[in-house]
Amino acid sequence: MDIEKLKASAIGEIDARRYQLSELSLKIHSNPELGFQEVKAAAWLTRYLEENGFSIQQGICELPTAFRGSYGQGKPAIAILAEYDALPNLGHACGHNLIAASAVGAGVASKLAIDQLGGTILVIGTPAEELYGGKVIMAERGAFGNLDMAMLVHPGVYDTATTEALACQALEVEFFGKAAHAAARPDAGINALEAMLQAFTAINSLRQHIKDKARIHGIITDGGQAANVVPAHSAGSFLVRAEDDTYLDELNQRVLDCFIGAATASGARLEYKWGDIRYTPLRNNLTLAQLFTQNMQSLGRKVQFSDPSKAFGSTDMGNVSQLVPSIHPFVAIAPVEIATHSPQFASAAASEAGIHGLLDAAKALAMTVVDLVANPEIATKVKQEFRQNK
Ligand SMILES: [Zn+2]
Ligand SMILES: [Zn+2]
Repeated sequence: MDIEKLKASAIGEIDARRYQLSELSLKIHSNPELGFQEVKAAAWLTRYLEENGFSIQQGICELPTAFRGSYGQGKPAIAILAEYDALPNLGHACGHNLIAASAVGAGVASKLAIDQLGGTILVIGTPAEELYGGKVIMAERGAFGNLDMAMLVHPGVYDTATTEALACQALEVEFFGKAAHAAARPDAGINALEAMLQAFTAINSLRQHIKDKARIHGIITDGGQAANVVPAHSAGSFLVRAEDDTYLDELNQRVLDCFIGAATASGARLEYKWGDIRYTPLRNNLTLAQLFTQNMQSLGRKVQFSDPSKAFGSTDMGNVSQLVPSIHPFVAIAPVEIATHSPQFASAAASEAGIHGLLDAAKALAMTVVDLVANPEIATKVKQEFRQNK
């Protein structure tokens, strides 16, 4: 069978499963589960894969809601990654319900190409993207070691084949001062809140002189208990982001110096902890991105490469992309003025446009799998590009 016929049959498979896939996605949407608690979503997704001939391993990497579904054998081993965690209070405001359904749909629609041409198609369930960087943990525990390519399509407001994502690390800080009556004995107090405010001021000054795309942002999670008591304790959560790992190391130290300086100035004691999870920047495999672009365009979508001047944030797919040739395209499901992580985007993730995006993403992923198994020379090129740019 030729490539075009295989692609047409993959599209046909997705169209035939349109109802099942949209139901699956809507069911996950209306049962939002936070990171590492995605018990229902993982069960529904693995059941769907199992019913369609995939062999399933549940709870891989010692993470109960992570899974691995595989079909076929040998090389190339092509993985489509699924995310399915929701956000606190906002539900599926990042549209991971659509990622999940498009991943299993693409996996199942790739079966014919695998049957005819060989290779392995995997659907890997990766929990807790939003809060805990599930893929960072899975990468450390070897989940992506034997793969040849990895792909994940995220819903958004543009159709893009590539994504700019920043290195990122969290910092938790606490200042310990001394309580005292704020009016009667202010001289006896050490003000932990003022220490925190000084650190913010120092970071705001630093921000004028950092490189483009670097980001520092934080919140105060404890600023004292009563206005008439000198705050003895303050706490905050911060994120530091940079375009590359080297600059993140440098910036982390400069941000920490802002807290150390504030501790010295105020007399409050500083305690801090860097997050265990560190997101790496996303390496886009342009050969893969090109294939995906052509396939999306054949479905009538205008796909662009992302604008390198615009960074989107950080994603744990970055850590996967350091190990395996990867892409993390976006499929548009909402107008540009709607921001992800908003209630409006949560609605879009259950809308007609959301389902349309899910189906197109699944089709383009399955068509890209066809390209990769049908053209060993393209698969080789994907890997060559990965090695050269390392
Ligand atoms: Zn998100
Ligand atoms: Zn997301």
